[in-house]
Amino acid sequence: MMTTRILCSMLLTAVFCSAQTNRPSSDTPQEIPVFDANAIDKSADPCVDFYQYACGTWMKSNPIPPDKSRWGRFDALYERNLYILRDILTEAQAPGKHTAIEKMVGDYYGSCMDESAIEKRGTAPLAAELDKINAVKSREDFIRQIANLHRSGTPALFAFYPQPDMHDSAQTIAYLDQGGITLPDRDYYIKDDPKSVETRQKYVEHVQRMFELDGDKPDVAAGEAKTVLTVETGLAQASMDRTVRRDPKTRDHKMTVAEITGAAPNFGLILYFADNGSPKFTSLNVGNPDFFKQVNGQLEKVSLADWIVYLRWKTINAYAPTLTRAFVDEDFLFNGKYMSGQQEIEPRWKRCVKSTDAALGMALGKLYVDRTFGAEGKERTLKLVQGIEGAMREDIGQLSWMSDATKKKAYEKLDTIVNNIGYPDQWRDYSSVVIQFNNYAGNAQRARAFETHRQYNKIEQPTDRKDWGMTPPTVNAYYRPPMNDINFPAGILQPPFYSNLMDDAVNYGGIGVVIGHELTHGFDDQGRKYDAEGNFRDWWTPEDGKEFEHRADCTANEYSNFVSVKDDKGEVKLNGRLTLGENTADNGGLKLAYMALMHVMNNTPLKAIDGYTPQQRFFLAYGQIWCQNVTDQEARKRVLTDPHSPGRWRVNGAVQNSAAFQGAFGCKAGQPMVSENACRVW
Ligand SMILES: [Zn+2]
Repeated sequence: MMTTRILCSMLLTAVFCSAQTNRPSSDTPQEIPVFDANAIDKSADPCVDFYQYACGTWMKSNPIPPDKSRWGRFDALYERNLYILRDILTEAQAPGKHTAIEKMVGDYYGSCMDESAIEKRGTAPLAAELDKINAVKSREDFIRQIANLHRSGTPALFAFYPQPDMHDSAQTIAYLDQGGITLPDRDYYIKDDPKSVETRQKYVEHVQRMFELDGDKPDVAAGEAKTVLTVETGLAQASMDRTVRRDPKTRDHKMTVAEITGAAPNFGLILYFADNGSPKFTSLNVGNPDFFKQVNGQLEKVSLADWIVYLRWKTINAYAPTLTRAFVDEDFLFNGKYMSGQQEIEPRWKRCVKSTDAALGMALGKLYVDRTFGAEGKERTLKLVQGIEGAMREDIGQLSWMSDATKKKAYEKLDTIVNNIGYPDQWRDYSSVVIQFNNYAGNAQRARAFETHRQYNKIEQPTDRKDWGMTPPTVNAYYRPPMNDINFPAGILQPPFYSNLMDDAVNYGGIGVVIGHELTHGFDDQGRKYDAEGNFRDWWTPEDGKEFEHRADCTANEYSNFVSVKDDKGEVKLNGRLTLGENTADNGGLKLAYMALMHVMNNTPLKAIDGYTPQQRFFLAYGQIWCQNVTDQEARKRVLTDPHSPGRWRVNGAVQNSAAFQGAFGCKAGQPMVSENACRVW
């Protein structure tokens, strides 16, 4: 039971911690140190390549495990959580007395682990859904079938979901948006470089094999796969670019149901809304009206038979991970191995833990929090958050380019930010979900349907600001512009981000920067366009807005020059516009956490440890959060889809703009880690 290790680092004193290490243990990996002197490559010069200096030895001695496409200290923490969750689930699944929640997650996990029951069922779980699709005889049937798929959480053709009204965030309304493609980005369908052409070829082969597994003859399946690519290419061509969508203005289209129905009649939206299980509404937001106008023609041009093939594919693809080994392996060979460069599929138990977290995450999360986190953890984190909010207030006050009028509004927004730490106040009630110990595909399907129903029920209701967007074991944090809140799941509030055993220098470099990062998101290129209430409303004077854009341009151009991958298929640079918000948040977070640390050190001076000053250890802790190795395939995929820069640039990009960093390591003008034209937004 290595869960006690987390307890000891988060909540208890070191004495209690060492007393606990004698408990019987499973094979849970070691706790990850917040600051690791052994990770450092002392042969590197921190002023030439700080990432190499902070992480060089770690990178050399931590190759990517065969079941991963990326391996960093961040991922190692997530991996550690998986082991803890497995302990919880194995106990919940074992015979004995269990609470209703334990029984539910235990049965779900057990059904996933029971591969022989899954093999016995074969394609039966899929057949029931496919029968409905094969029975489609008219355009109306087709629309009803889209509604049916959406109800059960299977994506197809377009997206439908609840979101706060962009101009009245207190109210949640329906959103209709582009969707329906299967590859991770529209560019895969559109670009003509050799790699994109190859990806499409591999995708078609994969779709063909999946249709064959469902019983189609190879020549039939080959034709169907080509149909799928053609249909999805049409949807991709009608889709808006991911980077363009970062500007909320491009997604702000409140319409009446009559207006969107009139603009895209072939979608049969009246029928769809009546059938998809959502409450009634008369107006909604359409994220990309052009998508609906453009695909409207495609709905007529493409034959009903081809649309049916497309729906069959979307269903097979959604069910694949919950079906027999043959489906699971084929799904992995394309999505894991080809697309991400992952050599081996993860062991079954890891996939089953993740699946339980995805399906019943707030139930599993409660058990996780009971073991690893408590009120004390919440309190300590809140103190850190308050310190960093204070730094942001001070930082805003010092900005020479911002007028007092805009500053006043910025303070208002900062003061309104809600902090959510660890886990939700109220746990989600899953008691209506039927979980059977021997029916994995059915369980997964019912959990997806439950979540969809729960989401749809938010429509036309006051916005539920207390509903969390991530489960407690998640190693991540987030800011939500319409809610104006920052959220830190329990999973991230532990080493390497935070440890009771470490001094403030490294904790501020770890979780402190994460907190500053999330706060800064409220004021990045996207977040700044929302006001204190979470409404999409410009609160900047025009001059200040221009000054901001000018500074953001500097960051965008800087990161656009960073190379992410260089291999035999060529060199790929980062998209500085797609990653602008995250890079702004990294730079801001580093600055704010450093300011907060300096305040702490004014009252309680810190000593040098391991030969490093507190300032140096602050930056090393930050750098080491991002120590990672990534496959070339994964790196290529992320350049297209991930708004975050890779670890190397999260670190070097931020420190080369930081005078505090340069002071801490004595870097001189002209050295690579001293940007000639340092970018600074916040
Ligand atoms: Zn972020």
